[in-house]
Amino acid sequence: MNLTERIETALGELEAAGNLRTLRTVVPEGIYLRHEGKRYLNLSSNDYLGLSASAYAGVDVHSYAARTWGQERLSAFAHGNPASRLMTGNSAEYDIVEEELEQLFPDRAALVLGCGFMANSGLMPALAEKGDLILADKLVHASIIEGLQHTNAAFRRFPHNDVAALEQQLQRAEAGQTVWVIIESLYSMDGDLAPLAEIVELKKKYGFYLYVDEAHSFGVRGPQGKGYAAELGLEREVDLMVVTFGKALAGAGAAVICSPLLRRWLINRMRPLIFSTALPPVTLLWDALVLHEMRTESLKGDLYPGTDSLRAHLAELIQEFSEASGIPAASHIIPIPCGSNERALAVAEAGRERELWLTAIRHPTVPQGTARIRLSLNAGMTLRDLSPLLDLCKKIG
Ligand code: PMP
Repeated sequence: MNLTERIETALGELEAAGNLRTLRTVVPEGIYLRHEGKRYLNLSSNDYLGLSASAYAGVDVHSYAARTWGQERLSAFAHGNPASRLMTGNSAEYDIVEEELEQLFPDRAALVLGCGFMANSGLMPALAEKGDLILADKLVHASIIEGLQHTNAAFRRFPHNDVAALEQQLQRAEAGQTVWVIIESLYSMDGDLAPLAEIVELKKKYGFYLYVDEAHSFGVRGPQGKGYAAELGLEREVDLMVVTFGKALAGAGAAVICSPLLRRWLINRMRPLIFSTALPPVTLLWDALVLHEMRTESLKGDLYPGTDSLRAHLAELIQEFSEASGIPAASHIIPIPCGSNERALAVAEAGRERELWLTAIRHPTVPQGTARIRLSLNAGMTLRDLSPLLDLCKKIG
């Protein structure tokens, strides 16, 4: 079989299994989006605070930055930093973002990367060595798995959120072995929270390094939106925290929050940092603006709801939706289980008829037989906006 035949056959199989992915062009319009002339409520975006459709979206980022951090720190060319951070891409906007993060997480250091995928895929290859043991929750994100595939350390997965199983695996570690435990604080496809307090208890007992991906909780949970570990007062127990800016912050990029020593090491060893072009200043400044607002709420007033009140509104909306639909919700990410890929696609299609933009999450993103609709609620919505969704939930039982 030549390459064309091989790929055509494989694509045909994907299509037959209800698993073919395609790109659809959409035009964002507040909490809605337009596709082929029709408007849909966007229930698939990770813009959890609704910032992209809020008054914040209209802020003149350059003036805000000049006022807040000083004109002299801003790059003349905003749209690119055309070199790696280690070459000449490390413009002052990186310092601004990292300083904002370091003020949110006192005594910690922050290292900004191009995106969460780069952070997660680069961390373990840079840090874990042959002889180390890595224990990762079964449902950690593909970007973390990508990193695990490029380490010399042994890695094992423990059943999702199963603290007893994790403890058994910890008991099997060799004396003196360096052990890493990797979890997400809020799981991206299930919307459930990690048993973080119990895992921190295990850390005290067994002494491992704790790595927590806060991609879906950063901006949304905890004081100042610092994430779920901070909500529990446990952020200092986390040795490696990954926060991303492409979700609740409605920007792009990510950061590792760690000790100053680890930061120095990562600068020397983390390949996605070393071998990739730096982010553009304009992107970094938006990230910095949102971080600064999370910390200080300096714009808060009639026009700009404070980020705290956006978080409070979102928490209320989750509660109201859960009560009205009867669907339990641990967070703003709410899965509607469908089982097969075909059923998930049919529910997404029924949503489309009600002007709801729903995404069917299928194998291999989730395990076989656990296809689902993944709803993400955001702070720009009200329960009224969700009434066609409530109607759909009743219909599908
Ligand atoms: N971690 C988790 C848990 C994610 O869900 C994602 C993206 N969906 C990432 C990391 C990757 O982040 P980014 O989109 O910034 O690459």
